Amino acid sequence: MKKHNFSAGPSILSDYAVNNTIDAIRDFAGTGISLLSISHRSKEFQAVIDEAGALVKELLGVPEGYSVLWLGGGASMQFAMIPYNFLRHRAGYLDTGTWAHNAIKEARLFGEVDVLASSEPDHYTYYPHDYTIPEGLDYLHITTNNTIYGTELHADIDAPCPLIADMSSDIFSRPVDVKRYDAIYAGAQKNLAPAGVTLVIVKDEALGKVDRPIPTMLDYRTHVKKGSMFNTPPVLPIFTALQTLRHYKELGGVDALYESASLKAGRLYEAIDNSTMFCGTARIPDRSLMNVTFVMSPEYAHLEKDFIDFCSQRDIVGIKGHRSVGGFRASLYNALPLESVDALINAMNDFETAHK
Ligand SMILES: *Cc1c(COP(=O)(O)O)cnc(C)c1O
Repeated sequence: MKKHNFSAGPSILSDYAVNNTIDAIRDFAGTGISLLSISHRSKEFQAVIDEAGALVKELLGVPEGYSVLWLGGGASMQFAMIPYNFLRHRAGYLDTGTWAHNAIKEARLFGEVDVLASSEPDHYTYYPHDYTIPEGLDYLHITTNNTIYGTELHADIDAPCPLIADMSSDIFSRPVDVKRYDAIYAGAQKNLAPAGVTLVIVKDEALGKVDRPIPTMLDYRTHVKKGSMFNTPPVLPIFTALQTLRHYKELGGVDALYESASLKAGRLYEAIDNSTMFCGTARIPDRSLMNVTFVMSPEYAHLEKDFIDFCSQRDIVGIKGHRSVGGFRASLYNALPLESVDALINAMNDFETAHK
């Protein structure tokens, strides 16, 4: 039997994406060559990257004037590439978790960084909403979903400056108003593909405004101009991303994915709130639909490890909280079926009954 995989990333992918990738590893598009050995410059692979880009645009409603890029280096590379390409004088950042914190650290290498709000003193248990955005920022950088802490921004911000967002862990889980953003980036290994590729959506006319020289590989213009083919792109994860995107379209697009995410998360949060043994860690209005963080209430805290073992006996894996937070984290990415959520809820109920 397959496991119920709640891993935070690399995370569960759909059978559709996995099986089509396996087939292509054996024989890619009827070429008689494995996807692992196909030239990225072959016409068959060009068709893959073209369709993947077109589907990103279609699913997210990306307006004219934006490019879709497939880059290496993970979302963490974007923490540096963003300020390298966009930070002239001053940028605003929201400090909403470890990833945001890492992004701030890199930006400080390139210019003045205004941390407009931080939930760090409260262990990142909420998403800040009360702050003023000063005039004249080059951009405001946000992390829409805080994977480790289980908080999420549920609507696009209304900002008087361009927005740049790390959407690594909630991209394609809800509609996004892309025209508000100069750049959106997402490491693929949460909602899209295996690790190894990062999706970047960038507004063409926002590029080329900084004075500093930018190394070729770190300059978005290189990749826009060369269609992500300046060097060898990560062929396999891009292929899997295409399968995931096709599947998303078939499922009804981001509106349908949002509905399904709301259903799954709603059901799990309800179980947590109805329990006396478990309690959520994130402020309720900011709760993430993708990463549900919770702990044992203090009187049961000693049973934490027992619960993880109890779950693993039921083939429920990946629910241990991040080492910096503890407790539990159930990641409910798009590919996680509702039945896995139900399996977890049943385990919680049975465990609670057995220990009362
Ligand atoms: C996982 C994650 C990252 C890090 O991604 P890498 O691809 O490992 O660099 C960055 N930001 C967020 C929000 C994440 O969830």
